[in-house]
Amino acid sequence: MSLPKRRVTRSKRNMRRANHDKVAAPTIVPCGNCGAMSVPHRVCKACGHYDGKEIVKKGDSEKQAG
Ligand SMILES: [Zn+2]
Repeated sequence: MSLPKRRVTRSKRNMRRANHDKVAAPTIVPCGNCGAMSVPHRVCKACGHYDGKEIVKKGDSEKQAG
């Protein structure tokens, strides 16, 4: 069994652990179609476009019974 050569100080241990569990700000980019800020590589929530095409229809057509 290999063992650590030197004791890791409380400071160094805590510095290493401090970089974990950080909450990163979500990446957002302007939509290529409508310009609204949205998550990249996802269908735009504002206009429903992705890769220059309308993927999700937005508007009253969404409100259908059944
Ligand atoms: Zn959009």
